[in-house]
Amino acid sequence: MSIVDIMKERMSFSFEVFPPKPEQPMEPLLDTLSHLYEFQPDFISCTYGAGGTNVGRNVEVCKAIQDSGKSIAVTHFTCIGNTREGVKEQLDHYLELGVNHILALRGDLPAGWEGTRGDFHYASDLVSYIREEFGDKFTIAMAGDPEKHIQCPTEEEDIAHLKIKQDAGADYMMTQLCFDVKAFEVWRDKIQKAGVHLPIDIGLMPVLNKDATIRMALSMNGCSIPKELARIISKYYDDPEGFRKAGMEYTVNQIFEYMNAGIDGLHIYALNKWEAVTDIINMAGIRTQHKN
Ligand code: FAD
Repeated sequence: MSIVDIMKERMSFSFEVFPPKPEQPMEPLLDTLSHLYEFQPDFISCTYGAGGTNVGRNVEVCKAIQDSGKSIAVTHFTCIGNTREGVKEQLDHYLELGVNHILALRGDLPAGWEGTRGDFHYASDLVSYIREEFGDKFTIAMAGDPEKHIQCPTEEEDIAHLKIKQDAGADYMMTQLCFDVKAFEVWRDKIQKAGVHLPIDIGLMPVLNKDATIRMALSMNGCSIPKELARIISKYYDDPEGFRKAGMEYTVNQIFEYMNAGIDGLHIYALNKWEAVTDIINMAGIRTQHKN
């Protein structure tokens, strides 16, 4: 069953993890995965680094997830530095391993790079290529930024690019973090008016650490920090434990707000931290509701 089929029936539920560095052992992540499987996620996606770093470890992680039989593995895959032949070879390998779900990305350009230095300039080129070369063998997700991609001059242009990606053959959309659910709803209306109708899988970033939250929102993605989150940052500025507790409550509330807004999937950026994620899911009680 593909993730899109699941989304036709109900909200999908999933996690995102990142691979260990090449010199680090795999066991801690395998342990994390074993805890995450307890929530019966429909899929677990695995990133790799900007510039295509650590792609080898990504393959190992995806294989481990797929081989577990407990969840579908979704590999992230970027255009950075990739030739057509290289992409064909790598995607053939994923298929041999049973990994047939992919998040097709351009990738974050390393500092100083103007383009991808590969045969594909945008994620839409990669989506088109996968469809041409592999037909329907892959379920393809594409990325979407509810608050506009940080490098795109205008929201209108960014939405037009989303439509191109959809029309190239993507099956569903996975979003960048967005702390402002109202902003997400406004954006969803706009993309739908522009003809983007793919199911939307919301990327949810747990709020656990002040500096990481500020960095991910402001410096990496250009996302807004809503008043309530700004209040938590101010109140617990020098109190990491207090911040973590309030941040987890904020995250639980965000889960409810997104579910009330009506979404096709909830994708928790697990950050390889199963304890915190377990607490958040239990606090929200969503997996119990979800299974019933
Ligand atoms: P694109 O869709 O190609 O868009 C990139 C920029 O180009 C946008 O500003 C867009 O508006 C513009 N654009 C698109 N098409 C055109 C066109 N035809 N002409 C002109 N401009 C155009 N990065 C990683 O390196 N590794 C990961 O594992 C990873 N995982 C991610 C997971 C999720 C859920 C998300 C949302 C992002 C992830 N990223 C990851 C980050 C992603 O690679 C960056 O956001 C990247 O900068 C853009 O990727 P994209 O696929 O959205 O690119």
